[in-house]
Amino acid sequence: MTRTMPAAVITAPGQVEQRELPVPDPGPGQVRIRVHATGVCGTDLHLLHGHFGAQFPLVAGHEISGTVDAVGAGVLNVREGDPVTVDPNLYCGQCHACQRGLFQHCEHHEALGVTLPGGFATHTLCPATNVYPAHGLTLDQAAFAEPLGCVAWGMQRLRPRPGSTALVFGAGAIGLLLMQGLQASGCSRVTVVDPVEGRLALARTLGATHTLTPHAALREELLDLFPHGFDVTSEATGVPDVVQGLPALTAVGGSVLVFGVAPEGATVALSPYDLFQRDLTVLGSFALNQTVPLALEWLRAGRVNVDPLITHRLPLTGVEDALNMKARPGLQGAQKVLISPHAPQETA
Ligand SMILES: [Zn+2]
Ligand SMILES: [Zn+2]
Repeated sequence: MTRTMPAAVITAPGQVEQRELPVPDPGPGQVRIRVHATGVCGTDLHLLHGHFGAQFPLVAGHEISGTVDAVGAGVLNVREGDPVTVDPNLYCGQCHACQRGLFQHCEHHEALGVTLPGGFATHTLCPATNVYPAHGLTLDQAAFAEPLGCVAWGMQRLRPRPGSTALVFGAGAIGLLLMQGLQASGCSRVTVVDPVEGRLALARTLGATHTLTPHAALREELLDLFPHGFDVTSEATGVPDVVQGLPALTAVGGSVLVFGVAPEGATVALSPYDLFQRDLTVLGSFALNQTVPLALEWLRAGRVNVDPLITHRLPLTGVEDALNMKARPGLQGAQKVLISPHAPQETA
């Protein structure tokens, strides 16, 4: 008789069902993880609505931590009982992008929780190549390896000069990870803008030197504080108007980092003369690329604190509620919602 496990399955656009699925057995090179926590992310909401090429039925959830439950033949890096986290993005290693080291752009990209079963179940399978030992961390902290790995890739792209001043729009979970990533990468004073006062209070606790709510005279207020502009301007909002406003707030020789996920097809107006004349750099940063180790090191060193970002913990039956919370950001003070498949109680 096959063992079964509970899973939250997206069965059709907008529909989550609780189902019993067979517990998967690890094949050669594969690791079975007993899921401790899976973070809920904007990507899950897109998948719920059938975007990103979602194929149903789908067990979503790609921000996964847990303990190794079983390993297949040839697994070298972890053994049963090890605390682990995963890089959910699987790549072929053979395509144009992979052969240039840009694995997150793989033409044959697959991902746990996106095209393959993910972490909204009590167990999940992952190739050992994408499993990282997470000793020295709590399993809650380890669940942040993927989103923080995205920030780490952004920092590898940006390479801020030591002592840079920085500006971050957006103080949701990703914005506050970005803020801390900037600090851990040598930025000095970091200013955060967000409409929700509670999020700004958290930003200050985590080291923001200035926090502001957006209003009509925001630009003037920011330039009062930093008359030459910021060495780094960035956003974790995905709002095109925010991106459009960044160059004017950037100091000569500075960089604009586009980190949020804007609607596909949105456009903004930029002044080529301004980019040219003030030596500005505009950078994009997509997903993560071999940056889980850096993320885990920031966490181990206490350079990035994720504990206060965990505002809700829900069982598998709470996946639908968690996605609804994502759909109304700022409501209920939600930062990061963790799904804990083995913890039936709700400790919001
Ligand atoms: Zn994510
Ligand atoms: Zn590839």
